[in-house]
Amino acid sequence: MTKYVYDFAEGSKELKDLLGGKGGNLAEMANLGLPVPPGFTVTTDACRAYLRGGDEPFGLADEIGLHLERLERQAGRRLGDPADPLLVSVRSGAKFSMPGMMETILNVGLSDATVAGLAAQTGGDDRFAWDSYRRLIQMFGRTVCGVPGEAFEQALDDAKRAAGTTDDLGLDAAALRGLVTRYREIFREHTGRDFPQDAREQLDQSIRAVFNSWNGERAVLYRRQEHIPADLGTAVNIVAMVFGNLGPDSGTGVAFTRDPATGAPGVYGDYLANAQGEDVVAGIRNTVPLQQLAADDKRAYDELMVIMAKLEAHYRDLCDIEFTIERGKLWMLQTRVGKRTAAAAFVIAAQLVDEGVIDLDEALHRVTGAQLAQLMFPAFDLTQAPERLARGIAASPGAAVGAVVFDAKRAAARAARGERVILVRRETNPDDLPGMIAAQGILTSRGGKTSHAAVVARGMGKTCVCGADRIEVHDGHFTVDGRTVAEGDVVSIDGSTGTVYLGAVPVQESPVVRYFEGTLSPDADPLVAAVDRILAHADKVRRLGVRANADTEDDAARARRFGAQGIGLCRTEHMFLGERRPLVERLILAGTDDERDKALADLLPLQRADFERLFEAMNGLPVTIRLIDPPLHEFLPPLDELAVRVALEESRGEPDGHDRALLDAVQRMHEENPMLGLRGVRLGLVVPGLFAMQIRAVAEATIACRERGITVRPEIMVPLVGAVQELEAVREEALRLLGSLGVQARVGTMIEVPRAALTAGEIARAADFFSFGTNDLTQMGWGFSRDDVEGAFFTRYLELGIFGVSPFESIDRDGVGRLVRIAVDEGRRARPDLHIGVCGEHGGDPASIHFFHDAGLDYVSCSPFRVPVARLEAGRCSVVATGSDSR
Ligand code: PEP
Ligand code: MG
Repeated sequence: MTKYVYDFAEGSKELKDLLGGKGGNLAEMANLGLPVPPGFTVTTDACRAYLRGGDEPFGLADEIGLHLERLERQAGRRLGDPADPLLVSVRSGAKFSMPGMMETILNVGLSDATVAGLAAQTGGDDRFAWDSYRRLIQMFGRTVCGVPGEAFEQALDDAKRAAGTTDDLGLDAAALRGLVTRYREIFREHTGRDFPQDAREQLDQSIRAVFNSWNGERAVLYRRQEHIPADLGTAVNIVAMVFGNLGPDSGTGVAFTRDPATGAPGVYGDYLANAQGEDVVAGIRNTVPLQQLAADDKRAYDELMVIMAKLEAHYRDLCDIEFTIERGKLWMLQTRVGKRTAAAAFVIAAQLVDEGVIDLDEALHRVTGAQLAQLMFPAFDLTQAPERLARGIAASPGAAVGAVVFDAKRAAARAARGERVILVRRETNPDDLPGMIAAQGILTSRGGKTSHAAVVARGMGKTCVCGADRIEVHDGHFTVDGRTVAEGDVVSIDGSTGTVYLGAVPVQESPVVRYFEGTLSPDADPLVAAVDRILAHADKVRRLGVRANADTEDDAARARRFGAQGIGLCRTEHMFLGERRPLVERLILAGTDDERDKALADLLPLQRADFERLFEAMNGLPVTIRLIDPPLHEFLPPLDELAVRVALEESRGEPDGHDRALLDAVQRMHEENPMLGLRGVRLGLVVPGLFAMQIRAVAEATIACRERGITVRPEIMVPLVGAVQELEAVREEALRLLGSLGVQARVGTMIEVPRAALTAGEIARAADFFSFGTNDLTQMGWGFSRDDVEGAFFTRYLELGIFGVSPFESIDRDGVGRLVRIAVDEGRRARPDLHIGVCGEHGGDPASIHFFHDAGLDYVSCSPFRVPVARLEAGRCSVVATGSDSR
């Protein structure tokens, strides 16, 4: 029979698929001998079975009963015992952390019969007992039974008004007792039944509510955003309650073994005396630095420091923890390998190498290309001394500028209209998630680095300033030091310093980019030193080469500074734009072979000069020149515009022969589906001399550069090939021409038409190399128009889960990826030395890079800015199997 329940003594962090992160880590701590309250975990298997069948799986109730008995023995108390009741918390805990996205019910076990027993346990603290009871009815009512939270809030406000207080603490035991009566009425009004007095029934219903919260709106949205699979389910942790709100010798806190924002060594945390954990996480009250605890309760502080050192040594990584002190006794309520900013990830990984805790392979495994990309974001340029409005806590780095919006729904709506917004809230809660996703940045007036806003923003890589407590947030405006900022006014928030500025502050390059550009030494900054070191290791271990897509010498030079090992795609069509348009028009309008040859001859020196500049910038490295791809009419004015111009000219009696000829050409060449029309190799075969002119320009540029001592490694690439015959025709002409000029170059093809992938064995015989054009391969593989579909219906497709991420962003492994694998296998079988790369957008996407590594490609080619990310990810591909971190 499936085992659905594990005591902490039976679990471990290795079982996190089954016990969730929280349950696995609680078990790990208990087994390390740390002070964890007794408890057990109901597995994700049980959740999945429940969600599939709509009922508890067979045997679960009995198993819970057995583990509950054990828990009661360990705690020395029984659930529902009026004299000395055991209270438990019921918390969700999925494999991947989903902070605040699912449900928690505290104080389960309280009832009319046990409330006095709780008071007795706490030395006659009636007020505390009734406050705990009203909290249970409120949490249980809202979470388990769907009673609207406002009904309870309203009753609480009424009670405070009647007692003449604005603070919860102003309510005495009698008032709270009255409030419990009112809460129970509210419960009955909304559910048609009484609040359950049976403790076991409370427990069972709470467990079911946590199971159900896996499919709650917030959780679904968060999973989609974070690409967490929808079918994992959550575990449920049932733990004996400990209380941080039993007076000044009690409290609760959150701490990190190193600073999660910068990676600086040393314990970092927030503490709140006489409070429950939820108060810290929700940012409801402003916390004090953890060091304050050393003054308040030295013994507990010292014990905590020993435990944190032990945890970091055990997990070999930064850990975060939640703890509670109940009347001087320290309890550990949670730990995990802590979330951190991108900068902290690099700095900590390098520190741990220095400390001898991990090796460089593991350091590389622990950072990601997405984090490196984030570090390349710009920061504010403060030379213009922008007006500082407020200062908060630097919760998640970056520089965000936008119009302030005070409501998550309005923020999402304005962002959907293309506006940049900053979501401003007193504090955020999980209902704000859509607005947080849509906003450029998040600003709150309350809460610390561990508040909901901070944790969620860091997870999303979004700029966040929180706890800017001089700001008073109202609906529609905020005030700060006598100044009012209304909805729609622009502010700039700096998530690295916590500063809030009025107006739009200009932004400047990141230090990491300055380092890549060669204007900042790696010794200048610990972050840059860490990036330099880990990237050097990535370069050492990676098998995949990294090239860049670049069409100009500036892009090429930057790509080289960023570590590119060549150019994998030069789109030559840019050389047909701008002031060269008239020449291209002449080519298109040419009525005779002579006119066409003349136009091509005029284009030749321009192309030759372009290639010379590119070859010079890439001296010694390979440069792949792709012959022209788009249809020629793309270089002519749009049909409507031209038609209107000609009609006006003719109606005025001033006909312009050139415009008329252009219009005739545009009409003649008009295509319903230009993406599937006369482009790429088809154009080269139909317009005599066009490809030949480009190939000649490559050859002449090569000769000219070599004469200047430059080492040129040219490669000629044919676009949009679908049949080997197309490639053979171009290849023959190319080799003849190159041979006649005494230049050697590799001639290869893009694989971007599905037919090319499926006949790759034949095509390889005429190709020195393949480069996957995954933009077109995705377009033609899915039948999705590249330029239209993302705006038209991808949002809906993402909502429906048809795919988790746009296939234009990250390679569709099962479909388009299959075409890639077929082409690699069949191509290499026909020609073992075939050199294979990719130059579609996917070449710079971390997840896709791992796919290309697995598929056996030789290199990826991406935009210059993504080259460092690709180098890092390519390195990670080589060490991923040996990495052994604990996440
Ligand atoms: C591609 O199709 O992936 C490609 C690189 O070519 P382009 O984007 O220029 O069509
Ligand atoms: Mg293409």
